[in-house]
Amino acid sequence: MFKELKYLVKLQNIDKELLQINEIRGDLPKIVENLNNDINNLKNELDNYHNREKEIILELKNLEGQIIDNKERLKRYQDQLYLVTSNKEYDSLTSEIDAVRQEIDNAEYKIIEVNEEMENLVEAIKSKNLTLQEKLGELKVHKEQLDNTNQKTNEVQTKLLKNREEVVKLIPLRYIREYERVAKAKNGIAIVPIRQIFEEKVDKKGNIEYIPTKVSCGGCSKIVPPQKIFEIRSAKTLIRCEFCGRMLYWDNETSEVRLNNEEEIF
Ligand SMILES: [Zn+2]
Repeated sequence: MFKELKYLVKLQNIDKELLQINEIRGDLPKIVENLNNDINNLKNELDNYHNREKEIILELKNLEGQIIDNKERLKRYQDQLYLVTSNKEYDSLTSEIDAVRQEIDNAEYKIIEVNEEMENLVEAIKSKNLTLQEKLGELKVHKEQLDNTNQKTNEVQTKLLKNREEVVKLIPLRYIREYERVAKAKNGIAIVPIRQIFEEKVDKKGNIEYIPTKVSCGGCSKIVPPQKIFEIRSAKTLIRCEFCGRMLYWDNETSEVRLNNEEEIF
């Protein structure tokens, strides 16, 4: 086998192991990431709610102050009413009194409105806090699971990644590019052994012979044209499956599939 092909097979074996590690981790990294995002969003929302709470407290204090001031003004105007000497003065004073009363009414109405908002806010904070606690609990559980899995797999993964780096260095860039492109499109599998079926034949003398029959791609199972088999087995150039684009090679351990007469051909 020419050496680039050998290294590509090695690279594929390393990547298969890395894929297995990812499978063991499963959805955990994604779940943890999503929970962290949810928690950050909830914390931001709670921050906004608490800021609004502070604003409302100031607003209420302000409105109450306004009412006290206006009530004092009102009292002053009412006292002045006894001292007026002209109709004009009387009219002007009563219109001032009306205006102050209106301001007091407005402030009282605003207080009711703001208090209502505060009540809703307190409810919302309570409910968001509850959700936050739930999410934090979920995060703790999943984070622990992920940490446990990582603890078991990190060492192996680091080793595999280091080996991968070494193997990649040995392969020409154009092959690496092709490998990565096909792997990305084909669930991480870019190079596969072919499968050749050998059927059992028994001659008149009772001798058993295995006759090579169809050859198929180990990735997509489509038939590989017979003229390519020699090239694949001699492994001097890189041959690709015409259907799935995966690179093909002959593997001494798995490519030869012997079928007995009783077995079904697959
Ligand atoms: Zn194929």
